[in-house]
Parts: sequence; structure tokens; C-alpha cells
Amino acid sequence: METPSYTIELTENIRTGLPHPGRQAYERVALCEPDFVFKHRTKFENSQKQKMLVNGYLTTAASQRYEVFANSLTCVNCGVTGSYFALERDIGTARAGGPFYFNLYAITKDGYEILMTKDHIVPKAQGGNNHISNMQTMCKVCNEKKGRTTESELKVQGSGMRVS
Ligand SMILES: [Zn+2]
Repeated sequence: METPSYTIELTENIRTGLPHPGRQAYERVALCEPDFVFKHRTKFENSQKQKMLVNGYLTTAASQRYEVFANSLTCVNCGVTGSYFALERDIGTARAGGPFYFNLYAITKDGYEILMTKDHIVPKAQGGNNHISNMQTMCKVCNEKKGRTTESELKVQGSGMRVS
């Protein structure tokens, strides 16, 4: 099957890349509205590895994260809402030179960029499964706190990564 190919118009922000202290080096090549990814994704199934080309960069078209975020863009704990996907990859790591991923981000009212993640409602360590029904949208800040505490103890604090 031919790999579908799409184009995102680049903005000046993307060409230069956003400063992102506190995060390992990454290469960001495009930003888009969430609907762009939701429109072009293919149905996620466990063995499916469908790809798409975006601005010439090969990336996955079928991801369970897309399904979770399509259900909700909002962190179940603190309420920040993902507003854009970035097409990017880590550099200077074992994955250097590896594939690009669409990562969903929210911007807090304080101007921090926060990565959105899929969270296991019932943790795998407590027998939770990988089915979509056990997944919810959670920002990285809350997800990391959940990893250290029980969910009822979660409190939101102003941490994250400054955008500019
Ligand atoms: Zn959160």
C-alpha cells in the first residue's frame, strides 16, 4: 500500500524551534491543529504499523495515543487542554535518527508547554490492561505525580516547561 503524504504549512516558530529548557534535545519539524492528526490517522490495531508522510517525514499513522486524545484533549486531573501536535523526535539519545512522532502539547496560562500523555486508569502494576477503555488523557506533570502518589493525592503545581 502506498504511504499517504500530507503537507503542513510551516510557521516561523517551527523553523526556529521553541526553547524548551528541562527537556532533552529534540528536533521539531512541524506543528498542527489536533484535527489534522485525527483526520489523517488510521484505525489503531495492535499489529498495525501504518505510516504516513508529513512534509516528507515518515511517522506513524496509527497510534493508540491518537485514539485517547481524540476522545479527550484535556488532562483528567488538572484540566489543561492539548491545543496542538508537534512532529518531532529526540536527538542525542539512543533514538537519534529514529522516526518522528506527533506529540500533543498544552500551553498553560503561565506560558508553559506541557506534553500530554495517555494514562492507564488502572495502573498496569495493579492489573490494568492496555485497552482503550483503560486509557485517559493526562498531562505529563500530573502523570509523573501519579506515578509517585495515589490519584487522590494528586495536586497540580505550576511546573512544566517555559515556552519562551
Ligand atoms: Zn494535568
